[in-house]
Amino acid sequence: MRQYIVAGNWKMNGNEALLIAVREALAGVETKAEVVIIPPYVYLPSATQHFRDTNLVVGAQNVSKHEEGAFTGEISGLMLRDTGCQYVLVGHSERRTMYGETNEIVANKFVAAQRVGITPILCVGETFSERGAGKTMAVIEASLEAVRAQVGIRGFGKAVLAYEPIWAIGTGVAATPEMAQAIHADIRKWVAKYDEGIAKNLQILYGGSVAPLNAQALFSMPDIDGGLVGGASLKPDGFAEIVAQAK
Ligand code: PEP
Repeated sequence: MRQYIVAGNWKMNGNEALLIAVREALAGVETKAEVVIIPPYVYLPSATQHFRDTNLVVGAQNVSKHEEGAFTGEISGLMLRDTGCQYVLVGHSERRTMYGETNEIVANKFVAAQRVGITPILCVGETFSERGAGKTMAVIEASLEAVRAQVGIRGFGKAVLAYEPIWAIGTGVAATPEMAQAIHADIRKWVAKYDEGIAKNLQILYGGSVAPLNAQALFSMPDIDGGLVGGASLKPDGFAEIVAQAK
């Protein structure tokens, strides 16, 4: 049985007060999900502090492929681990489109996270025009293949995937539960080609305009194991409602 994960990606938003507000909004919420809060780097140590004695865990938005050295502005997996971070996003579409992260760069970051025992959340997804051209799975498979080339299929046994159609991110237009389910099932099938056990246990999150009103329908799909939530994770009460839908 796969456990749900609901992860809140704050992007370049939030502050110390939001960490406390989220902790308070989530206290006592019944859920079957592991809840991961993903604030900007500078808040990671205090997030770990504020979430001590709660079920909330902390993730980062990015990681360097290097362990240490002359890489000004970068943060390594070892440093993330020191802050108490358990997850890291790799390949978020904003990193791919705004910062030129290719499938190969993303795969390197995936490796860097696993090297220090941090679970990568690998984000994959297509643009609107790629979907229109019938290329959705080809785009996703290229991202998955780049990772498999470096870590083999076994690497997916210690990772989480997030299917995030780019056209749904931050637009208020989520994929329908049926559309998302179809892609999640295809992703699982792709993994099963290589290892059925890993495919069966792999948590695949949906991301793209998840909100209190659509979370339950999405999470009730058989291959959707929770959500990666952007904008709606910045509103503590709404985020708590989303978390409560994972049941
Ligand atoms: C995201 O940033 O990963 C995301 C899914 O954003 P939003 O929920 O705002 O669409």
